[in-house]
Amino acid sequence: MTLSRRHLIGGAAALPTLASVPVRARAGSGWDVIVVGAGVFGAWTAWTLQRRGEKVLLVDAWGAAHARSSSGGETRLIRTEYAGNALYTRWAWESLAEWQALSKRHESPIFHDVGALYIYGQDSAKIDASIALQRGLGIPIEKLGAADLTRRWPQMNFDGIAVGILQPTMGALMARRSVQTLVREFVAAGGSFRPFAVDPPHATGAALAAITGNGGETLRADRFVFACGPWLPRLFPEVVGSRIVPTRQDVFFFAPAPGDDRFEGSKQPAWVDASDIDLHYGFPDIEYRGFKIALDRHGPRFDPDGADRVVTEEALAKVRAYLARRFPDLARRPLAESRVCQYENSDNGHLLIDRHPGWANAWIAGGGSGHGFKHGPAVGRYLADRVLGTGTPEPAFTLAQHQPHGETQ
Ligand SMILES: Cc1cc2nc3c(=O)[nH]c(=O)nc-3n(C[C@H](O)[C@H](O)[C@H](O)COP(=O)(O)OP(=O)(O)OC[C@H]3O[C@@H](n4cnc5c(N)ncnc54)[C@H](O)[C@@H]3O)c2cc1C
Repeated sequence: MTLSRRHLIGGAAALPTLASVPVRARAGSGWDVIVVGAGVFGAWTAWTLQRRGEKVLLVDAWGAAHARSSSGGETRLIRTEYAGNALYTRWAWESLAEWQALSKRHESPIFHDVGALYIYGQDSAKIDASIALQRGLGIPIEKLGAADLTRRWPQMNFDGIAVGILQPTMGALMARRSVQTLVREFVAAGGSFRPFAVDPPHATGAALAAITGNGGETLRADRFVFACGPWLPRLFPEVVGSRIVPTRQDVFFFAPAPGDDRFEGSKQPAWVDASDIDLHYGFPDIEYRGFKIALDRHGPRFDPDGADRVVTEEALAKVRAYLARRFPDLARRPLAESRVCQYENSDNGHLLIDRHPGWANAWIAGGGSGHGFKHGPAVGRYLADRVLGTGTPEPAFTLAQHQPHGETQ
């Protein structure tokens, strides 16, 4: 059964529904901060700013973690294995504590500590350096040889695998649920949320005074954060443009055989197969939605508004072929569910978080690039610091360090 701990501290039922939230405007110019976009980045930013005493309005065109947002999926992996990148390793580790705290405050789990297993075709000094980095931060981690892997997870075929790295305290974040729960907390604590579709913003001076949307309505604030994920290029065609390119990602959930519990979270960790350039990853059968699997390779360019979201036969055939090799007892099982989501890729995989170059009071945040979700709490803290004029800017996140796609080589 699921490994998650359920805690009944301040249950979710006590929180208001998002539809019934009062919109409180501040007397005078408007809000301290308006955050546009209630995905994981915008939600944590609004939540953090509100806790620091700011009067915050969070808006979204379609609702918090809606089905087509990048944050609207079922599960997202949290892991500290980052190939030795110190910043993301630390951010993921710090964020885990905040996700766990959020999970403890609510009855429905936000985090399932099923563990995260990376498997590699070859051992290397780089793997050991990443392990050392994580151990230096106090992160529990185990290095396993092929025989250990087969003994512990006999339902997997480890042919071609030399080594595995298990992060036993990591696991699966419930993506949509966690963002919607966070937004309800934000509202219960005095923040405001409303549906509002923002037009591409314009200002002639050195600051942005207001945004318009919903057919001509104006909202004023002292400062603005635009956390619009794959829609950022549309809102800021000149500043962001092809610095962020959304790509189509097909995701599959397979039904294990009746009575077969080998793929549940108590017996199967979340996993990433790094033995191939075509990197597959997946999750155990969490909350009985099925065994999730996807290919991490960037799919074709994707318009987040334009297309019906139906997986392709070709992508399904490819994951079945992969299952036949690595999870043979699932290869012929029925497909229980499928989803099409989009990565919002920056050119180099780094987050894009920076002040708008023309407006001193506006920030842009996105570029999660298929790995951003776990960092939501750290992004919220970082952006709140930037907006409030504290903290140190991270050079890797700046617009200057991100080139438009196709102009990098
Ligand atoms: C299939 C898939 C698997 C992934 N797996 C992982 C994983 O395992 N681990 C991990 O850490 N990350 C993972 N990611 C990446 C992660 O989910 C994203 O990086 C993250 O959710 C991006 O959040 P966001 O807030 O930037 O964008 P979004 O969640 O897309 O939110 C942006 C919001 O802005 C709103 N908006 C846009 N334009 C406007 C407008 N004009 N007016 C008002 N509102 C607007 C949208 O409606 C949307 O709700 C995965 C992504 C996908 C697609």
